[in-house]
Amino acid sequence: MLIGGEWRQAAAGEEIEVVNPATEAAIGSVPAGAQADVELAVATAKRAFPAWAATDVEQRAHVLAKAATLIEEHAADLAATLTAEQGKPIAEARGEVTHLAHGVRYYAEAATKVRGAHQELPSALGPAYGMVIRRPMGVCAAITPYNFPLTLLGTKVAPALASGNTVVAKPASTTPLATLEVARLFAEAGVPDGVLNVVTGRGAEIGDVLVGHPDVRRVAFTGETATGRHIVSIAGPALKRVTLELGGSDPVIVCADADVDAAVKAVIIGRYWNAGQACLGCKRVFIEDAVYDDFVSQLVERVGRYEPGDGTVKAEKPRLRMGPIHKRSARDELVEQLEDGVAHGGEVLIGGGTGGHQKGWFLDPAVVAEPGDGSRLVTEEVFGPVLPVFRFTDFDDALRRANDTPYGLGSSIWTHDVRRIHRAAQEIDAGMTWVNQIHYGYDELPFGGVKDSGFGKEHGLEALDSYVELKSVVVGGLQ
Ligand code: NDP
Repeated sequence: MLIGGEWRQAAAGEEIEVVNPATEAAIGSVPAGAQADVELAVATAKRAFPAWAATDVEQRAHVLAKAATLIEEHAADLAATLTAEQGKPIAEARGEVTHLAHGVRYYAEAATKVRGAHQELPSALGPAYGMVIRRPMGVCAAITPYNFPLTLLGTKVAPALASGNTVVAKPASTTPLATLEVARLFAEAGVPDGVLNVVTGRGAEIGDVLVGHPDVRRVAFTGETATGRHIVSIAGPALKRVTLELGGSDPVIVCADADVDAAVKAVIIGRYWNAGQACLGCKRVFIEDAVYDDFVSQLVERVGRYEPGDGTVKAEKPRLRMGPIHKRSARDELVEQLEDGVAHGGEVLIGGGTGGHQKGWFLDPAVVAEPGDGSRLVTEEVFGPVLPVFRFTDFDDALRRANDTPYGLGSSIWTHDVRRIHRAAQEIDAGMTWVNQIHYGYDELPFGGVKDSGFGKEHGLEALDSYVELKSVVVGGLQ
């Protein structure tokens, strides 16, 4: 782990093995952090805070921009590490590294553009004017999941550092290696010792200590809804600022006038990228009767091109590589959700098998037609390459079913009918609606969900607001 610029072993001396999910081979190990390590990291970040907060904003921006450049320069190595520990194909890992660099550069550029406000005030209490100033908060915890370990690190660390805060990051215990490499690059870029610390270890063992630590004022969490609820139960009573980016079950509505070819291509990426282990993605597709057969046959044909296998080895064209499911338990749960879909009347049109591999936790990407409303494929988040598809004839009914989920992260609609576009934007309960577009989290736009998908925003200039305290200053004595 990295604390105060030093690479350290855990206080307790125990190590966690990191395993390649495609080969099940150990590829390294990291210290299993304990309470003492978290306390040291927070104390170090607290000590580093005043100097970093007082550092000229142009200098902070410069260091972040340099980090983005270093990330780009080391993209090949970072991607190789990411593929080895997470499982995703190397091309997808390169995409994640590129997205990370883009996000870090976005906040490097934004850091110097932030403005406050000037407010005229009534003169009843004497002439005065108001200002709204922005003060950094202090030590921020950044807790990330295993599916996009790098981009989700960047969406927390970059706005935190740009705003003058210091950070203690905790990566998922199964994907810590690329995170540690990125932290090394931030240090090389000139981030002072103690400003960005990484504590490795198991969330169940050190999470409460980090989240509950009195000197941590801000908690940025991405992960499962159940973990998010637990984090709020610790951070809430301590009145900490929390943002939660949690699970999703994004609906896609494909209307009769849609460009079916484009919609299928977007849904393929939206559901099968990263072997479907994405928070936002195309998780339930509602297709209007007139284009259902066309859409589904194109979808099944394209899904059939995937070849699950080791992400380091390219599939031979026209086959497409899909990596393994990151954890055995997650793969087994997907199989159970699929079986439940069948038990509720769903028909598996393709995929769902787990065989054909000596090692690794693979699942053949699947399409399931019409599982019943009560099935787990509909009511739960499906965190893998299994896609339920549904026929609709009534647009109101499609909107109702789109909203019939505890989640509210993303959503999309495929149509050129402006009235339907307007209704989807206004009526779907989600943090984002894409129109004739793939579900993609642009760095430039606020990103985050509603309902069980959490609260607060990452990405965009709006994310900077959640790393500062707005303070009103009234200036009187003007006469
Ligand atoms: P988890 O919630 O299991 O883990 C996320 C992180 O939280 C890990 O670092 C984990 O550590 C840590 N953690 C676990 N328990 C605690 C605790 N008690 N206190 C503090 N931290 C803890 O999520 P997954 O890694 O399984 O990620 C998949 C989930 O993330 C999916 O539900 C997905 O939808 C969601 N997600 C949401 C996104 C969004 O932006 N809305 C984006 C990407 C994913 P450890 O690994 O050691 O258990």
